[in-house]
Amino acid sequence: MATSKKTNNPNKRVVYVVSEELAKVSSLLPSNKNRSLLVHSLASSLGILVPKQKHNGQHIRLIRPNRATLKDLSVYHTRDYLDFSLNPDNHSENVQQEPNESADFGLEDDCPPFRGLDDYIFLVAGASLTGANTLKTDQADIAICWDGGRHHAQKARASGFCYVADCVLAILALRRFVPNPYDNISPAPPSKKPRIMYLDLDLHFSDSVSQAFYSTSSTNSPQVLTFSIHHAAEGFFPISPLSSLPAPGSPTFDPFSLSLPLRPGASNRTFMRIWPIVERVKNLFEPDYIVVQCGLDGLAGDPMATWNWSLEGEGSLGWCTSRVVHEWDGKKLLLGGGGYNSPNAARAWAYLTSIAMGKPLSVDTEIPDHRAFPLYGPSFTLDVPAGNMQDQNNEEYIKSVEECFEDVLFALQHRLRQSTT
Ligand SMILES: [Zn+2]
Repeated sequence: MATSKKTNNPNKRVVYVVSEELAKVSSLLPSNKNRSLLVHSLASSLGILVPKQKHNGQHIRLIRPNRATLKDLSVYHTRDYLDFSLNPDNHSENVQQEPNESADFGLEDDCPPFRGLDDYIFLVAGASLTGANTLKTDQADIAICWDGGRHHAQKARASGFCYVADCVLAILALRRFVPNPYDNISPAPPSKKPRIMYLDLDLHFSDSVSQAFYSTSSTNSPQVLTFSIHHAAEGFFPISPLSSLPAPGSPTFDPFSLSLPLRPGASNRTFMRIWPIVERVKNLFEPDYIVVQCGLDGLAGDPMATWNWSLEGEGSLGWCTSRVVHEWDGKKLLLGGGGYNSPNAARAWAYLTSIAMGKPLSVDTEIPDHRAFPLYGPSFTLDVPAGNMQDQNNEEYIKSVEECFEDVLFALQHRLRQSTT
């Protein structure tokens, strides 16, 4: 097994993508009304988002998102989807449209069109791309964009509360070869194509991101590896053949498209058990960039009520995030995602921000007095503790996952060796 040297540098350059306009427009998202405003105002009231000052001895730089251009969005989305979804005439519920035209683009049911959708798409995509670009241009080691992480949006349609595929766009931007400005001065150092690992911690399978990079070709360039840890059960959204445990013997197996489904009640204990698998995959792949979708709907207290994951302690979301940002080589882009208990989302992402900055807040930190303070009762602290749900990921299941991934790791190693010979 390859080993990765630790780079626990406490002075990492952290950027946080935010603007008033981004928070306002993200707060329009029908599935997460006002969540963004809550998230940024809690982080701000905790003193994390004070530009040009130090929080617990650490710096964070706030950067405004650039609005994505139509060209940026067209790198992945179809022109038809963009023409329809970006047209304000299609955003009113009362507008007369061709029958089923909205439905053709997924703009119905859990993805209704809403006034401001065009700004939402331009800004959320722009925010994640801005984060990615700060990493690419070496202005930061860690970029945080909690308004991003829309992992269900498809190339030609909205899906699962997601209207724009910012995760895919960010990965594509990181993957693109950047010409060395000194190429005209010989000898220029040879440029290596960057490798990107996408790690998805949301309760739901990252269907659109995994599908975007899935390939059964045994000769495809292993530049992007997607790894989704999620809940899977019959009928649970999203339904996709890629969400099951990998089957290395199957002709449809792609060692760069990995899924680790978990059962109800997944807790810190289960994440502690499966985490070595994630790290072994990372050690083999040796990514230059790690994009982490930090969806929060697996946390205890979320209305999804499926997992029992918590914020702090070994195996927790905080623990996993800390491992990635401080012990893994490579630059990191932290994105948001699901999370339907908005005060808990604000708690969790504020805590993860403090972890990224290298000085984690105590989860016993009291919520400061600010406009949204009453929403944080009855605890009025930062913690999102586990509940009483039973963890159904028993020893037998975990062992079957470990056995499966022994074969996956073998296949991955084989493919990586092939690609370098
Ligand atoms: Zn989710």
